[in-house]
Amino acid sequence: MVRLINNYNLGHRLAIVERNSTSEFSDSFEHIFITSDSISFSSDGSKMSIDEKTYEYLNGLDTGDIVSINQKGLCYILHSGYKDDTVFFMGGNCNSNCVMCPAGDAERKNDFSDQWKETLKLIEMLPERINYYVVTGGEPTLNKDAFLKVIGDISNKLYDSPGIVLTNGRSFSSKELADSFKRVAPNDIMVAIPIHGSTETLHDAVTRAEGSFRQSLKGIRNLIERNIPVEIRIVVTKMNCDDLLNIAKLIVKYFPSAYRVHFISLEVRGNCIKNKDLVYIDPEQSFQKSRLAIDHLLQNGINVGLYNYPLCNVDRKYWFLYKKSIAGEKAIYDEKCADCTMKDSCGGLFVSTLKTVHPAVYPINN
Ligand code: SF4
Repeated sequence: MVRLINNYNLGHRLAIVERNSTSEFSDSFEHIFITSDSISFSSDGSKMSIDEKTYEYLNGLDTGDIVSINQKGLCYILHSGYKDDTVFFMGGNCNSNCVMCPAGDAERKNDFSDQWKETLKLIEMLPERINYYVVTGGEPTLNKDAFLKVIGDISNKLYDSPGIVLTNGRSFSSKELADSFKRVAPNDIMVAIPIHGSTETLHDAVTRAEGSFRQSLKGIRNLIERNIPVEIRIVVTKMNCDDLLNIAKLIVKYFPSAYRVHFISLEVRGNCIKNKDLVYIDPEQSFQKSRLAIDHLLQNGINVGLYNYPLCNVDRKYWFLYKKSIAGEKAIYDEKCADCTMKDSCGGLFVSTLKTVHPAVYPINN
């Protein structure tokens, strides 16, 4: 989640949060002290006043959380104690440009060439065991050397912590990269790769990258052959919703040893808003269109999960597949949800999705 620190003027910082201004620490890392009316940094003592709105946001941070603040004052929470996933962001650039990507053009086109260096620093700053981590982009493997260095450092520091790499899988069509990844990968890591269609024509139309279907499938095969667990992701859109059973059949035929398959409802922001007429399908339809494909995968012994759906949009029979997947501050509930007895088990909606398309929800009362 990102928030703006109004009138920020203290430059780019990666810092560990301190809520107690008398805290002492022995490391050489940057620390940010937060009080009700100011923030200050340990490295140079620089300080600025903050307004009430900024404090309201920063007050949600705890000692030990790690934030990255850019020149414009955009503050990203990269690690938040044991509450949420730790994010190893490799930059927003990507070699595909999927029609329903929740990132916008600016997020993909900015210069992130040094982002990996900050990620290495973040790894150094972390405790030795964390709840869960996500290596993500954009496409995190674009700079292969940087990617392998980050994975190697994660392995050295967090060998047994569980985590996942979110990639379009195209780079792993290189056997050399798959071999190098296998060599440096930590113990409990998984790679998640999407399949957008059962044919080259459909998949490549979604990614808008010629050859991506073949590359992603080859990438999945290369990783599975090296005993790296692969999660296959199916992001359900208007473009592929009538092809889901075919995708499931393809997975059963070619990747029966995939670790699991996740069906994913849309996050409506970025390209997804821009191309809404082409791609948007509401979560209720998204689930209903997925049923036959889910059944086919389960009947063939493949684990399935449902991501980013409101629980009430999923038939009860399938609740055992449901994951409360929308992370912390990205999740929001419709006002009708106040009457729902299942709210604690439900992941709600993305803030952006509720604001833009407002899908129907159905409070559950028994
Ligand atoms: S009504 Fe709201 S809280 Fe209840 S299941 Fe639906 S989205 Fe979730």
